[in-house]
Amino acid sequence: MSSPYLSNNNLIFKTAVTDDKIYIREQQGRFQKIRRLLSSLLMIIFVLTPFINYDGEQAILIDIGQQKIHIFAFTLFPQDLVIFCLFGIFSAFLLFYVTKIYGRVWCGFTCPQTIWMLMFNWVERRIEGSHNHSKALDKQPISLNKVTKKVLKHVIWGSISLFTALVFISYFIPVDELYYSFFTLKSSVIVFSWVLFFALCTYINAGWIREKMCLHMCPYARFQSAMFDQSTKLVSYDAVRGENRGKRKITAPKNANMGDCVDCNLCVQVCPVGIDIREGMQYECINCGLCVDACDMTMTKFNYPKGLIAFSATKSTKSPWKKHLSYGSCVTLSLVAMVVWGINWQSFEVNIIRDRQALYSVNQDGKIQNTYLFKIRNKSNQAKVYQINLVDFNNGHIVEDSKESHHKIAVQPQELKISAISVVVDDHQMKRRRDITFDVVEAASNSSITKNSSFYSGSGGW
Ligand code: SF4
Ligand code: SF4
Repeated sequence: MSSPYLSNNNLIFKTAVTDDKIYIREQQGRFQKIRRLLSSLLMIIFVLTPFINYDGEQAILIDIGQQKIHIFAFTLFPQDLVIFCLFGIFSAFLLFYVTKIYGRVWCGFTCPQTIWMLMFNWVERRIEGSHNHSKALDKQPISLNKVTKKVLKHVIWGSISLFTALVFISYFIPVDELYYSFFTLKSSVIVFSWVLFFALCTYINAGWIREKMCLHMCPYARFQSAMFDQSTKLVSYDAVRGENRGKRKITAPKNANMGDCVDCNLCVQVCPVGIDIREGMQYECINCGLCVDACDMTMTKFNYPKGLIAFSATKSTKSPWKKHLSYGSCVTLSLVAMVVWGINWQSFEVNIIRDRQALYSVNQDGKIQNTYLFKIRNKSNQAKVYQINLVDFNNGHIVEDSKESHHKIAVQPQELKISAISVVVDDHQMKRRRDITFDVVEAASNSSITKNSSFYSGSGGW
């Protein structure tokens, strides 16, 4: 296998793309099958997820106006920044981890840019014919046939783009509102504008910009090589076996000084980024495996062994577990942190602020009184009652009409309620500052949050 490595283990990447339009030849094969299966699955998840209901509400909804994200039983607010950070860290390390083992398979198999680009290409092939027909059509003068095909193609591209934009926006606006109001022209101007904006982005991206997005705009393409090492499986051409390349008849016996590459050029014609993998590793390669399928097909026709182009590592590591250690442990740690966060997540939040007007006061019964502002946010979809208990605070109680040492606060779904709670102590000899602990219990589920604050009195020592 030709080595793409320098002696200091850095990969050599060449570049060989032109800015000419690429007419992608359609290719069948196992990697194409895997990609189509994966992209169909992801597409179904993308389209259907907003239709899932949980507890009477859309299961996943990003409410920008209310600054909250609803994910099944969880409602996340900006205060839950930690889970967003953990998710970001987890996703980044998972991407790096997969990249270190299999190269840019994210780009080749699951990136929306590739999925939509190949979907648009599929539509183009159905309407304009093979890549050669498509190329010939572009060169033809204007005719009814040409205009009909082009209009049809762009209408279908536009419809896919509009549908994509609607699905995307349905993560922000409930589906039952969005689709009905959009198609009955009752949506607001803002909603219409966003849908059209995302539709236009999809259309331009997948229909016109295509591989240029991967080549010139995607930052990931620029730094992915930093994650590769000699054990990374990258699509590469076996030049030792393939060269000297040369055209030949299927039936003709192979000339002794010829390699297995029959120079059919299929690997170039199917490449969505327009490179020739036989020229060596190139940073534009998205590891999509289409050239592997094309070459395997040719090898089968000529009765040569498959794998002239293949996903392969230059060197197999002596300790395979080592390659999983760095990124693998980061992925595991961030996942564990997310699970721990999820287990400890409460459907309500409590914050206590001491009354800033007065450190303390003496009430009409001559008792020392401190006032606290309780901010309770009910993050669930049901109205809840929260009971505030004072923990181990001798001679003290929460002031209420009933004079009981607890207080109950009803909070509506998603509401943030602020209640002033006063605690009185009948002990003038107590320390001037004492720790005070409140236990806030959600009555139905019996889950609780404990919060500490301070109680001040005018007499006594510190
Ligand atoms: S060289 Fe092969 S694997 Fe790389 S982008 Fe082109 S077709 Fe895909
Ligand atoms: S598909 Fe295989 S045989 Fe054909 S040109 Fe490419 S490397 Fe050579």
